Amino acid sequence: MTDSTHAPGAASAAAHADTPPVGVRTRFAPSPTGFQHIGGYRTALFSWLLARHAGGEFLLRIEDTDIARTVPGSVEALIAGFSWLGMDINEGPGVGGPYGPYFQTQRRAIYLDYAERLIANGHAYRCFCSRERLQAVRDAQRQRAEPPRYDRHCRGLSAVAARARAAAGEGYVVRLAVPLDGQTTVRDALREAITFENANLDDAVLLKSDGYPTYHLAAIVDDHLMRISHVVRAEEWISSAPLHVMIYQGLGWEAPRFVHVPDVLSKDGKGKLSKRHGALPMLEYRDLGYLPEAVLNYMALLGWSSGESADILSLDQLIEHFTLERVGTSPARYDEERLLAMNGRYIRQLPLEGLVDRALPFMERPQSAGGLPDGVARPLDRAYVARVLRLEQERMKLLAEAPTMTAFFFTDRLVYESALLMAKQMDRERTLDGLRRSEGVLAAAGETWEAARLEPPMRALVTELGMKPVQLFTSLRVAVTGRTISPPLFETMEVLGREVSLARLRDAIARLASPA
Ligand code: GLU
Repeated sequence: MTDSTHAPGAASAAAHADTPPVGVRTRFAPSPTGFQHIGGYRTALFSWLLARHAGGEFLLRIEDTDIARTVPGSVEALIAGFSWLGMDINEGPGVGGPYGPYFQTQRRAIYLDYAERLIANGHAYRCFCSRERLQAVRDAQRQRAEPPRYDRHCRGLSAVAARARAAAGEGYVVRLAVPLDGQTTVRDALREAITFENANLDDAVLLKSDGYPTYHLAAIVDDHLMRISHVVRAEEWISSAPLHVMIYQGLGWEAPRFVHVPDVLSKDGKGKLSKRHGALPMLEYRDLGYLPEAVLNYMALLGWSSGESADILSLDQLIEHFTLERVGTSPARYDEERLLAMNGRYIRQLPLEGLVDRALPFMERPQSAGGLPDGVARPLDRAYVARVLRLEQERMKLLAEAPTMTAFFFTDRLVYESALLMAKQMDRERTLDGLRRSEGVLAAAGETWEAARLEPPMRALVTELGMKPVQLFTSLRVAVTGRTISPPLFETMEVLGREVSLARLRDAIARLASPA
């Protein structure tokens, strides 16, 4: 994917570099190294809600400088996920914007320029150490049980010498010159100020030997040039934040507000949510028939609370209520069952026509993709689908369940084990008798085939036969639906219609009368 905007380049970007951002501008800045699941999107959602609450702007920036780890298609999937969720992007890939390009690989000249500035003003230096030397240093540190850290071997090189070696073609990285003593304080919107001893910090690499920046340099430069007011990112970055504060200082810039949001853990709380814990790439939630508004609502509650007791919040309500004061610092846990339950609640709340709109594509897709059997003619009759879904709405938790839940409303022949027709403590004879008498009662039920007209005479029949309702109605349910669990029996028969219901009943009688 390419960016539709033209790079203003370091020079024009620098023109507005010294004025603070106006209003709230937030961003999501993923590395395209895989497919984002709920954890990543939750962080993005907090960033997005913060901007939307304030009437500000939300940017998407792709941090793709680790080229070897870039996964093809992940940016497209990310954007499709945003669009499915209804999280609009003001600036970013495919949208453009005044501070692009929004792919870091297209901004290399900018980072080089700022790395040079940091070298020139003494906040960074060139390091020519070989891989082998660095490894030896680390090994020695490990033996002494010291934390691995660069030993600052090249920090003492004179600027002239370092420039000469670089000019002669020797490979180097650029490292941050962390002050040797003193402290650096990180201010985070969700926490008390955190103070780090500089002596414990590493001279981190800012620019790699291939000329690509590391996260530390690229993110800081971009957040500044893109005029980000709030850096909303995962908690794991807190430990690097003092380095970032130093880079801002080194470039003479004011740091944006940091908002390190709590992790999303797996349900057992034993580790960060991952694929291994069943977290799916966002588009798979779509394909399973989650409603985007349910997923958004669920994600918003992973680390934030509205302060109200109601936990069903529309997108507008989320935007209205979202403030950083209610974002916690303790980790949230992803519970797939709660998400599923919430989806079920959203499905139940849908107006019937809305449910039809959303469920139809799942029902009409090919059988091999989970749709209704291929023998069922498409397009489906919308009015009939509405009558069917009205009965299933209560039980449905995922739209993708619609085809299996409703198949018996559409197929010509039911496939089921005849033994299912016999309810508990019922033998073949009594069942057969019950079904035959039911056929008579139902056939005589007149021309108006309505649940309210079918049920009373059938209840009278149960009494007359000396059965329990469940005994007769189980047989009848299996006869007309082919299953033991279905929506309310008489409403189901009403939707199936007189002809189909009676035909299925006769078929069941025939099965029992002449067992194969
Ligand atoms: N590229 C970083 C990541 O994916 C971004 C962190 C940030 O939001 O600054 O973790």
